[in-house]
Amino acid sequence: MQRIGFGYDIHRLDAGGPLVMGGVQIEHDQHLAGHSDGDAVLHAVTDAVLGAIAAGDIGQHFPDSDAKWRGADSARFVAHAVKLATESGYSVGNCDITVIAERPKLGPHRQAMQERIAELLGVEHSAVSVKAKTNEGLGPVGRQEAIAAMAVVILVAARST
Ligand code: MG
Repeated sequence: MQRIGFGYDIHRLDAGGPLVMGGVQIEHDQHLAGHSDGDAVLHAVTDAVLGAIAAGDIGQHFPDSDAKWRGADSARFVAHAVKLATESGYSVGNCDITVIAERPKLGPHRQAMQERIAELLGVEHSAVSVKAKTNEGLGPVGRQEAIAAMAVVILVAARST
């Protein structure tokens, strides 16, 4: 038994670093604005896991009207979604992510992001893929006003021992 889930997120960029993406702090002259730490990558991953178990979306579990999530580490959101998946009898198989950003170049940060996301999902880091694209200068992402992320996750029925 397998379940697949998809997640998407976009956050506005504001002046001043650091940039937090995929649970990793990146030195940059802009940061992702948001009620939490603005980590669009972890938000997309969270929604993918929640989607796979049909458990709603990140906004239902962590409403931005609730002051307690202000500045929150988005790792908590992923951990909560993984806990719900575990309680439903599933573990993560693998996760594939695309980050859409004009800047910064993600190559130097890719491995750290994969390792952190793998840790949060409870998988080997070879089971997490982080791909990067620009938006070819088009739209808000192209104008460096925002960064978007998409993620797919497959859950597999946890083996009973
Ligand atoms: Mg978000």
